[in-house]
Amino acid sequence: MKQRIPNIRSFTLEELQVKLAEFGEPKFRAKQIYEWLWKRGAGSFDEMTNVGKGLREKLAEHFTIGKAEIEAGQRSGDGTIKYMFRLAGGQLVEGVLIPTPKRMTACVSSQAGCSLSCKFCATGFLDLKHNLHHYEIYDQVYMLNQRAMEEFGKPLSNIVYMGMGEPLLNYRNVMGSIDMVTSEAGMGMSPKRITVSTAGVAKMIKKLADDGARFEFALSLHAGNDDKRSQVMPINDSNSLEALKDALIYFYEKTHTRITLEYCIFKDVNDSIEDAKELVAFSRIVPSKINVIEYNPVPESGFQNTTNRRMDAFIQYLEQAGVIVNVRRSRGKDVDGGCGQLALKNWDETPSSIGTS
Ligand code: SF4
Repeated sequence: MKQRIPNIRSFTLEELQVKLAEFGEPKFRAKQIYEWLWKRGAGSFDEMTNVGKGLREKLAEHFTIGKAEIEAGQRSGDGTIKYMFRLAGGQLVEGVLIPTPKRMTACVSSQAGCSLSCKFCATGFLDLKHNLHHYEIYDQVYMLNQRAMEEFGKPLSNIVYMGMGEPLLNYRNVMGSIDMVTSEAGMGMSPKRITVSTAGVAKMIKKLADDGARFEFALSLHAGNDDKRSQVMPINDSNSLEALKDALIYFYEKTHTRITLEYCIFKDVNDSIEDAKELVAFSRIVPSKINVIEYNPVPESGFQNTTNRRMDAFIQYLEQAGVIVNVRRSRGKDVDGGCGQLALKNWDETPSSIGTS
């Protein structure tokens, strides 16, 4: 059977040092190569110009550089750009670059597809195909940062793990990617610029707390009572609001980090004043802020965006109750790049596709 050539990007620095020691190379050589891979985003060994030709050839014999590539991009009328990434293994995922006057945000995927089947979400209608490796998540961040520089002349200010997939069900790789993004050997970004968002896996929220998460944390709530939440998010059957409350209290006691509650608002489902009351009650359990998100309808779901009048009344109730509330207007929805819309759709026929070279 043909032996698979290992991907050099799957090694930690320490592992790379061991591999290079087998070639009789000193430790500093491993560090040089590591920087080429992560800081400088090298896609071939030939780019590593401060590494001797002999060693570069040896590396190319023994390892691949499995790096993701941008396959295509689509620009929304509001400036948001959705990208399709082809991973080293051939799987496709989407990531989104969202420029606003104050921020340059990258939204990245942690899984190809998703197993949680949230009823409002286009990704939830795809099967889970692949848990992304830490370097495949890192690649999205790295390339979106490059695109931010090229397209808008500024680097990323924020990264949100809100693309395809449930981050806490690919825990080790998500944490590994955050380590890379925040480390000096990688992009050196502050963890406070990173938000990990979950559909609500109570056990893993506690694990995050035990592991001393230093980044921002968001829970997609979308309903403040179990019956409604289970209708919208089947994961609620096994991770009830009571279990989530318990996990959030645990998380807050350990990290002292204020939690963000994401609340996508659907017409005649979770947009009444009664729903707002339940949301406020849930939000009081730990220090939190609430993001109310305008919904981007996806045809499979049957859910609709609420009316402006109902949304305004909902928000007014939250504000009068004294909770911190932000309203997130939908962005990138004309290219299916908004919240809940990522499903690898409409890449062929969309006239707004942009070049990627
Ligand atoms: S909202 Fe997130 S967790 Fe739910 S199906 Fe979509 S990608 Fe998966």
